[in-house]
Amino acid sequence: MFRLSRYLHALQSPSPPQPPALRGPVVIWNLVRRCNLTCKHCYATSADKDFPNELSLDQIFAVMDDLHAYGVSVLILSGGEPLLHPQLFPISARAKALGFYVGLSTNGTLIDAAKLAEIRNARFDYIGISLDGLRETHDRFRRRQGAFDEALRGLRLCRDAGLKVGLRFTLTQDNARELPDLLQLMEAEGIEKFYLSHLNYAGRGYKNRRDDLQHQQTRWAMNLLFETCWQDVQQGRKREFVTGNNDADGVWLLLWARRHLPEAVPKLQAMLTRWGGNASGVQIANIDNEGRVHPDTMWWDYSLGKVTERPFSAIWEDRSDPLMAGLKQRPRPLEGRCARCRYRAICGGNSRTRAWRLTGNPWAEDPGCYLTDEEIGVSSSISTAAPLSELS
Ligand code: SF4
Repeated sequence: MFRLSRYLHALQSPSPPQPPALRGPVVIWNLVRRCNLTCKHCYATSADKDFPNELSLDQIFAVMDDLHAYGVSVLILSGGEPLLHPQLFPISARAKALGFYVGLSTNGTLIDAAKLAEIRNARFDYIGISLDGLRETHDRFRRRQGAFDEALRGLRLCRDAGLKVGLRFTLTQDNARELPDLLQLMEAEGIEKFYLSHLNYAGRGYKNRRDDLQHQQTRWAMNLLFETCWQDVQQGRKREFVTGNNDADGVWLLLWARRHLPEAVPKLQAMLTRWGGNASGVQIANIDNEGRVHPDTMWWDYSLGKVTERPFSAIWEDRSDPLMAGLKQRPRPLEGRCARCRYRAICGGNSRTRAWRLTGNPWAEDPGCYLTDEEIGVSSSISTAAPLSELS
């Protein structure tokens, strides 16, 4: 997770941002696989039916106690659609009582006035609602007519109730053009947080990087996000912009700063190096609906163990698993261009899932890196992203 606004705000502040003092990882917990939607890009391959073998309430409480004792302080409750979990509110009440920061990641369509009362009582610290574009695009992605209007209703209800609510947008080749519209919507609706998730796209490997439309779109989208956020900083606004699933974003920000804020580069570079990029298996963890632990949500086809058989804390500390050993190693045992990249200390080698999916080797270079060889120091010239208008 790359907290863009935190870094850009820090450039205007005399002291560097203090990283949150987290003892344990942020745990994204997919409590339930059931969902009322069947979105195109769903990593949980959900459906509107009950799935077998999900954790019972007692099991969930026992896991939560272990997480708490282990020092985990942030829980993001997700799904499927977490509002379809029949015990969501007892679960969130227990989490709040234990002192967790509790986020809810929802498609928003089930939030109506009646549900809002329960959500408000639950005192979630943050509610992220996904939008994939404007009405037509969102409904097509979500494969349901009316999903956009329902999600927007949920967003407005939460906002008007004084809850901290944000937009979650998964960037794909099919919706990139609507990013400006969504940023406009964020402005018009007075939303305080924007999370851009990169689709975990494995692409076709680095040979096509310069011509790859998806990579070019990513560069354009990130530039737009940087500019929007920097404008906020200059205007003294405190909206949050965060990205996920592509840690090359930190490097791309540094290259952007070289062009636009050259005097800020040394400070920014020091902050980004302290961040260190990809945190899967270290500061990010995932528990799925059946209790399997994964290094993050993109590793659903790789289980580290089940919380019904061993406590999360034991699974997370166990380095006998070669993937966990490598993820926790500093620096990671990267190969290919990631090993030679001059920015690997900032990016951390990015998504190991993409490398694994494309090559079967989790330490191979990340095919989702959208930076050119020149930019990462394989040769000398620095290129800039083409405007989206030139890409069609
Ligand atoms: S080459 Fe690898 S380490 Fe370097 S920026 Fe790209 S993904 Fe990150």
